[in-house]
Amino acid sequence: QDAINKIAAGEVIERPASVVKELVENSIDAGATRILVEVEEGGKGLIRVTDDGCGMDREDAALAIERHATSKISGPGDLERIASLGFRGEALSSIASVAEALELVTKVRSGGIDAVGTRLRVEGGRVVDLREVGAPAGTSIEVRGLFKNVPARRKYLKSGRAELARIVEVVTSYAVIHHRISFELFSGEKRIFKSVRSESWNEPLLRILGREVARNLVPFEAEARSVSISGVAARETATRSSPDWIITYVNGRLVRSRALSRAVAEAYRTLIPTGRHPIAVVSLRIDPSQVDVNVHPAKTEVRFLREEEVAALVTDAIRAALMKAGE
Ligand code: ADP
Ligand code: MG
Repeated sequence: QDAINKIAAGEVIERPASVVKELVENSIDAGATRILVEVEEGGKGLIRVTDDGCGMDREDAALAIERHATSKISGPGDLERIASLGFRGEALSSIASVAEALELVTKVRSGGIDAVGTRLRVEGGRVVDLREVGAPAGTSIEVRGLFKNVPARRKYLKSGRAELARIVEVVTSYAVIHHRISFELFSGEKRIFKSVRSESWNEPLLRILGREVARNLVPFEAEARSVSISGVAARETATRSSPDWIITYVNGRLVRSRALSRAVAEAYRTLIPTGRHPIAVVSLRIDPSQVDVNVHPAKTEVRFLREEEVAALVTDAIRAALMKAGE
């Protein structure tokens, strides 16, 4: 049973950045307005995500780390209509089973002054402590020694620097799409990133891409049956010789989609023949029944039922916006 859990967990949790992604998604689902991410050694030593979201009572906290425990699905029909970022109830249990220790401190926001906090500690996948504690409203989850007990997996982790780079990518990407939440990322004592709550994604984009690129971003939008697309694409990309910078979200979740990346590249290819690299943010709102999130257990690669239609819509929207801006 333990072994099966670890194998399954290894598929959901590949590296420190996957832990950060899952924890941040949970914080977003919990309605947080502030999310603090702290890591050490690129997340290999420590990952701590703290939010001011709805929190959990004692019972929910104990349930949260059980496999297939999710508070986000109530009936079978819900599976097709999932609006929240998480839904499988696998993340926390998986993380707990591949970490040396996981500690969760939480208190419900709605509990008034009588509410007490709960601390839950899991070591090697087993609950070793569950007690009342004083705590601020919200949730803090700390993960130490990721894959310490799964040497085969730990071996594949890159240097702290390289792992940190992936974490930065996850946090900054979420700061863009969820711009009404303020994000902070620390590596040890050093603050790596900070965004403040804002009404548009321009603010976080400016912080990530710098003034030069941010000034040249043009917005685009498109709509078709069951899909709506919005985003920004950079007009002048000459100053950047780095690889493509394309971030894609589906229903607020950071995803990878070969179809979407190709669609963006295609818009650039036909306009800028000199092999310059696209910089774009694409956010898709789509009827969840049109998305297949099951292609990869980590839920990062998605497929669309009408993939060509979606891709064409994206390509056309970006091309039109870039052409209009170039006039
Ligand atoms: P899922 O997100 O798929 O439901 P997880 O394993 O990520 O599964 O989380 C399990 C459950 O724990 C969630 O459904 C939620 O009820 C609770 N939970 C996890 N993180 C938080 C958080 N930051 N704030 C409030 N509740 C949380
Ligand atoms: Mg989750």
